[in-house]
Amino acid sequence: VGLLLKEVYAAYDPDTGKTVRDTNIYIEDGFVSEVGEHLGASWKTDTVIECKHKIVLPGFVNAHTHLAMTLLRGYAEDLSLQEWLNAKIWPAEQRLDQHKVFVAARLAGLELLYSGVTAVADMYFFEDSVASAVTSLGLRILAAPTIFSSGFMGSSLREAINTVGSIRENRLLKWALGPHSTYSCSKDTLEEVREAAEGRELRVHIHVGESRRSQVTAETIYGKREVEVLGELGLLSQRLLAAHCVWITKGEVELLARGGANVVFCPVSNAKLAEGGVAPIPEMLGAGVNVCLGTDGPASNNSLSVHETMKFGSLILKNHRWDPTILDAATSLRMATTNGYRALGFPVPGLKRGSAADFITVPLTPSLHGHPKAATPNMVVYSSISVSDVVVNGEPLLVDFHPIKIDEQKIMDEFERAALDLDIHELSS
Ligand SMILES: [Zn+2]
Repeated sequence: VGLLLKEVYAAYDPDTGKTVRDTNIYIEDGFVSEVGEHLGASWKTDTVIECKHKIVLPGFVNAHTHLAMTLLRGYAEDLSLQEWLNAKIWPAEQRLDQHKVFVAARLAGLELLYSGVTAVADMYFFEDSVASAVTSLGLRILAAPTIFSSGFMGSSLREAINTVGSIRENRLLKWALGPHSTYSCSKDTLEEVREAAEGRELRVHIHVGESRRSQVTAETIYGKREVEVLGELGLLSQRLLAAHCVWITKGEVELLARGGANVVFCPVSNAKLAEGGVAPIPEMLGAGVNVCLGTDGPASNNSLSVHETMKFGSLILKNHRWDPTILDAATSLRMATTNGYRALGFPVPGLKRGSAADFITVPLTPSLHGHPKAATPNMVVYSSISVSDVVVNGEPLLVDFHPIKIDEQKIMDEFERAALDLDIHELSS
């Protein structure tokens, strides 16, 4: 028994760049079974989503975030990265616990769902709680317990390994290791992370080249730049998610490309913390790096919307280079969707038989209507959109703007109680 996306106005495949008009998508057991103009006689459906006036796309992927930071959203604004971390965020995070992280990540999951994000790469403390929260809503997560060398809040490599073993991987959950950065993890820790990750075939998710200061710190500690340190330690591989990469040299771009690493562009967070530069995305794409998008945590953005990040990232790059041709809409949309699936290691959605059935639908509201022959990415990337339906692993999670089988009010109430209990504002005085 399957799910039918019926009479689709337009279905877009970011990998081929093709739009299929007036079609039907039949889904079985989490994967695309058939795509065609006519309904199949053998199609047995228990759910039908009418898509007559909707565009169907693969879901958005948020490839770098810290979901539980919804609890700290709005708490520390208008500060530099170092002051923001040292004076505000890290002291507040000392007060988090398993339960608070769970309810904060559930609220974040609801936000992801409404904005059409179907898969997320998260890095945080109590990551087993984040993984449970996200998968309980039916979304996919690559979950990385954060690792520091300084024993910050139960975040040693040993504790991370325990967390990784605490819940078995499944279709919605994959584990990774999350060494915070080269400046907060020692060389020994990073070497141990590489060994542990290799042995278990885990991905490694790390902050890289986020600021000029982080690069200066790396040069002071290691006598090398951050990507060079990762290269020397053998961490540059297809299993690496390198978040930010704002302040990196041409040589570092080359190293990332040669290693096959994935880079997560987080332009909104970078601009909000005023990192000054814009990540050299065109150079990375030119060198063959798999670039995807992340919002970063809701304390430094404050939105978890990948669509917003996609538009902002494209515009800031064009403006920064005085060149509107530097990034086209089709590439932006691929970065926001299928490139993210590859980075996280989940099966990639598409319109071929056997592709993962992770789709969103975008209704043709007045804000999305244009010339009917305009290219789909041109419409979707730069316009304001809403998401009406979300399907992950063939399961409908949001139908006609309403979450299915989710008690939204309960999630909001639990979040409010946890937020009041955290009482971070007494830290401000
Ligand atoms: Zn981050």
